[in-house]
Amino acid sequence: MNNKHTELLEFDRQHIWHPYTSMSKPLPSYLVESAHGVEIKLSSGETLIDGMSSWWSVLHGYNHPVLNQALTEQAQDFSHIMFGGLTHQPAIDLAKKLIHLTPKTLDKVFFSDSGSVAVEVALKMALQYWQSKGQADKYRVMTVRNGYHGDTFAAMSVCDPITGMHQIFEKVLMKSIFAPAPSINIDETWHDDEITTLEALFKQHHHETAAFIIEPIVQGTGGMRFYHPNYLKAVRQLCDQYQILFIADEIATGLGRTGKLFACEWANISPDIMCLGKTLTGGYLTLAATLCTAEIAQTISEGEASCFMHGPTYMANPLACAVANASIDLLINQDWQHKISSIELQFQQQLLPLKQCNKVASTRVLGSIGVVETTHAVNVATIQKRFVELGVWIRPFGKLIYIMPPLVINKTQISQLVLAIKTVLSEDECFLD
Ligand SMILES: *Cc1c(COP(=O)(O)O)cnc(C)c1O
Repeated sequence: MNNKHTELLEFDRQHIWHPYTSMSKPLPSYLVESAHGVEIKLSSGETLIDGMSSWWSVLHGYNHPVLNQALTEQAQDFSHIMFGGLTHQPAIDLAKKLIHLTPKTLDKVFFSDSGSVAVEVALKMALQYWQSKGQADKYRVMTVRNGYHGDTFAAMSVCDPITGMHQIFEKVLMKSIFAPAPSINIDETWHDDEITTLEALFKQHHHETAAFIIEPIVQGTGGMRFYHPNYLKAVRQLCDQYQILFIADEIATGLGRTGKLFACEWANISPDIMCLGKTLTGGYLTLAATLCTAEIAQTISEGEASCFMHGPTYMANPLACAVANASIDLLINQDWQHKISSIELQFQQQLLPLKQCNKVASTRVLGSIGVVETTHAVNVATIQKRFVELGVWIRPFGKLIYIMPPLVINKTQISQLVLAIKTVLSEDECFLD
């Protein structure tokens, strides 16, 4: 670490917000020099194996030649162009792919610039849909506890009220209707008691409810839990029975992570609206999409506003669409299921047994996602420093140490990730009392 690096980090500490941190007592940040494949190189010299895929977004590794080429080729044509009144092939190709790959009822695509905005768009679509049908009294949103859907206001109001710290913004948040979090895990035996409260809430609130939003199968940031597909089937059935739109937030799960291309496929269901983001560009640029059925689009378009009321400046950014097209092609033109299942198998063999370690409450694996839930909350600054010393990039929060590496990770690198977790589990200073 030379003087220039120290200076950069000092400016960063003084002036730049990082996610969910304090400006007066910021957690340390590490300066990145470059990243290649599954390796992140720090300016201080260390090379780290990436266990996080930069928060679910990197798929084929960093600095991928094919994605780089897609980006530079598009940049030579045009990097951005307004989407009002103009259109372009990268957006058209991407929409075609998404309509083709997602569950069959989804037919119209709205591009936006981040996951949270894709959720806002989904919620606005649902509200405008009912308004257009003359049922403006259907305006509330139902969801489950432990969910995470983003940090903008409407998205926040469907996040878990406790972990989402609703009390800070209570006065302005929408009052969502919360069902208990799904409690039966994906590998446990189903029993119908699981949906008793859910059914009661549908019965009680359907006349005022526009939509039900949920992360299919994986509750991500709200607890890294994998729940039973029958729960999703039940939600789909109740939404049909009570005329409520079903929004699947596949921002974390979409495009392969769980072993299915979309997590909805675990339950063989088709949502009315689906949100995609994160992995959409293979971790290169920020881009999101909200897909909906032809019926929703038509109803909104023929309603009072006669248009859908949203239009981001960087809508369908051509660079982002071009790299998304290249990333999706790379994914589906390889045996990606085999890739995911070999990561899953190795996690099952190496990560699940960490259950025996000190301070571990439970371990679980789904697709390329591995989770170690601890009995004590982690000390983020200390555990992060130890992971860096051990040559890995893993960023735990609360009682969750989780990894979801890029697809291109090899067996030795996976072993190193797991070994690093095993090592910190025996170090008391990495945990709070
Ligand atoms: C990350 C995430 C979001 C928010 O996406 P941003 O791009 O961070 O705004 C929404 N929903 C789910 C399920 C997510 O994992």
